[in-house]
Amino acid sequence: MEIFVEKFGGASVNSADAIRNVEHILSLEKKKRVVIISAMGKTTNKLENIVNKWFNNQVFFTEQFEELKDFHLQLIEELFDNVDIGNTEKIDLQQSVKNIFEELKQKIKVLPNFDYNFLYDSIVSYGEILSTTIISSYLNAKKLNNRLLYAHTIIKTDNNYRDANINFSDTNREVNEQIMSLLKNFDLIITQGFLGGTKENLITTLGREGSDYSAAILAYCLNAKSMTVWKDVAGLLNADPKRVEQTIKIHTMPYTEAVELSYYGASIIHPKTIKPLENVKIPLYIKSFKSPTEQGTVICESESVNPIVPNFIFKDNQLLLSIMPKDLSFVTEISISTIFSLLAKHKVKVNMIQNSAISFSICFDDNRNILPALLNDLEKDFLVRYNEGLQLVTIRHYTVEAVNNIIKGRRILIEQKNRMTAQYLIDNGIEKLNK
Ligand code: ASP
Ligand code: MG
Repeated sequence: MEIFVEKFGGASVNSADAIRNVEHILSLEKKKRVVIISAMGKTTNKLENIVNKWFNNQVFFTEQFEELKDFHLQLIEELFDNVDIGNTEKIDLQQSVKNIFEELKQKIKVLPNFDYNFLYDSIVSYGEILSTTIISSYLNAKKLNNRLLYAHTIIKTDNNYRDANINFSDTNREVNEQIMSLLKNFDLIITQGFLGGTKENLITTLGREGSDYSAAILAYCLNAKSMTVWKDVAGLLNADPKRVEQTIKIHTMPYTEAVELSYYGASIIHPKTIKPLENVKIPLYIKSFKSPTEQGTVICESESVNPIVPNFIFKDNQLLLSIMPKDLSFVTEISISTIFSLLAKHKVKVNMIQNSAISFSICFDDNRNILPALLNDLEKDFLVRYNEGLQLVTIRHYTVEAVNNIIKGRRILIEQKNRMTAQYLIDNGIEKLNK
């Protein structure tokens, strides 16, 4: 059986019209598909705000909650505002969505809130539950017969909440038992991106923007013919068009280059996505949902990137921590290993490192839910300073011109270059002496 895995991200399902377009894309070709869907628009961010407010201040963020609820209910209203769809589906769906919101509200108030990561996954996962419930029901109403499967029953993980690790043998088993047998009777299976489940079926998440990874895991386990990610851009561009005026579309890219780009933070694909696909040589297509018949980018087993042009990756909201042993002794292997075990403990992903005799500097995404506890641990042995509000710019296949365009007139805190890649940590803020 030839199976195609396709992923629709948040921007492709953020309105009634967008969802009608998903239906249009799915009806262009008849084939066996497993479709992975993200939360609608900015839902995940809003749920994150709700969790953070509850975790930090024990305040239920009613405004944000009601806004999300209205958004989803209003969207159903618009989506089914269509003469050829029966009313019963709409009423049933509205009721289920209201129930989901009620459940969410109850959950946040009763779940133990000493473990941020656990609470986060239990709540933030509702974004995908909502989007798939709505879209599956709408497609069924439009006679695109499909089955909704819950990702936490298929994608099996450990209990490393907020960044769960896949148990591939359990996942493989579930995929074969559940998806393969359903595909005999259905052309279309729908499931949530970003979510997984522990052995006990507690919900986990795979890290922000993890839906691409979900799709790759399923493509791998299903030995899919291809995986397609539907985006609001024409394919993989050499820079984010919101940041750079003239962008260039990449036609073909080898897996290895894609891994490099996502390692440096290219947001177009989740860093873990490529590996499972590369293992079994499944091509990954990145295509525009606005022009679905146009050729996008294909990431596959090719010799080199085509075309080779400088690729820009921007990461905002970076924090640079400079860590010094309290007695101003040299930074040694021992102190570095202490620092790294603390970073691992607090789940900090390091974006850049610089070492000198008496100080060790690391740059990472600023997250105020983690920082105080990390600083607290570090300060037992070290003096710590930090700069905030920084930008990390990476240029793959850099040229003198590309570099000059980025750095001219700006204050560079750290510069690192190798044969292919130049990185600049750029300052817009002020240094803070902690304490
Ligand atoms: N909804 C999740 C997020 O926004 C996962 C995803 O979109 O890939 O991070
Ligand atoms: Mg998303």
